Amino acid sequence: MNAIEQMQQELQILEEHSNLRSLPALTHEGRYVEAHGRRMLNLSSNDYLGLAADRQLREEFLQGLTADSFLPTSSSSRLLTGNFSIYDELEQTLAGLFGTEAALVFNSGYHANTGILPAVSDAHTLILADKLVHASLIDGIRLSAARCIRYRHNDLKQLERLLTENHSAYRQVIIVTESLFSMDGDAADLKELVRLKQAYDNVLLYVDEAHAFGVRGERGLGYAEECGCIGEIDFLVGTFGKAAASAGAYIVCRRAIREYLVNRMRTFIFTTALPPVNIAWTLFIVRKLTGFQARRMHLERISSMLRNALTEKGYACPSTSHIVPMIAGASADAILKAEALQRHGFYALPVRPPTVPEGTSRIRFSLTADITEEEVEELIKHIG
Ligand SMILES: *Cc1c(COP(=O)(O)O)cnc(C)c1O
Repeated sequence: MNAIEQMQQELQILEEHSNLRSLPALTHEGRYVEAHGRRMLNLSSNDYLGLAADRQLREEFLQGLTADSFLPTSSSSRLLTGNFSIYDELEQTLAGLFGTEAALVFNSGYHANTGILPAVSDAHTLILADKLVHASLIDGIRLSAARCIRYRHNDLKQLERLLTENHSAYRQVIIVTESLFSMDGDAADLKELVRLKQAYDNVLLYVDEAHAFGVRGERGLGYAEECGCIGEIDFLVGTFGKAAASAGAYIVCRRAIREYLVNRMRTFIFTTALPPVNIAWTLFIVRKLTGFQARRMHLERISSMLRNALTEKGYACPSTSHIVPMIAGASADAILKAEALQRHGFYALPVRPPTVPEGTSRIRFSLTADITEEEVEELIKHIG
């Protein structure tokens, strides 16, 4: 069998297990998507605050643009000629909002997570990572020289044991977690993680806020803001592609960490910086973040409606957030349930292995602040 035939055979096996993926053909219209000739309410978007669907915001932003300020490319890495002043403005704004010494912006969350850990780790580093962390963090760990142990999801007792047993054998230990988890929608106990880390002088904490930035906390800075522990997290990372309706990612951290990353982080150094116009849009949104409290409160209201309804219908619902899984089990069941909801005008998508563990295929509802209570009530009626 040649290489191409081998690929075709693997694809066929994926198809037999209902795990074959393809790029969906769809068109967007604000909160709606149109696919297979059907217009459906988008329940699978990461536009958590509804900002990407908000035309008025784009109009306001465009009013401030001219052919001189619309810069569609940075033409270089930031270390060469790509360091436009808008980058510093965004980073200073972020550091100011978070109250940290420094901030650094990256091209994406994937760049951040695959770049930071390899940069700061060596062979005398131990990484202790939650079993369910995002694929980008797994790839970052793989690229690093560190040894890694995964602890059971949110099992901080096991983590504490691992710290006690291992900390003295390493130069440093880095605990890696998400704050809100992408697939279960549950949260890490950040306060307890901080307590664990503070028991040792060689333990650092890395938290990925991709799903919480913009959504949680009084000012929308994330779950760490809500837990009151921004200053205790060494690597506090978030992304702009979800609630912030843009692209890119950030770390807020101490000045020394920022400077170290600028010198050592390959996914920062060896890539063309994001277009200045994109950074300007991110800054435009970040400056408004504090003011979106009503959207955050509405999102929490409709999320708890859906979570409660799923629990009442007998689904185990681990979520405490706007990411609400409806766990079906087999991939084929998840697909059938998603298709039924789509027929009723709700664009819900199945999530299957390897994204989630075998036997836990699910519909992943990802609610956004521009979905109404009436629409959630209607959705609940169609959940079997
Ligand atoms: C989406 C996501 C990322 C990747 O961010 P991008 O900016 O889309 O590359 C990283 N971590 C988590 C937890 C995510 O959900």
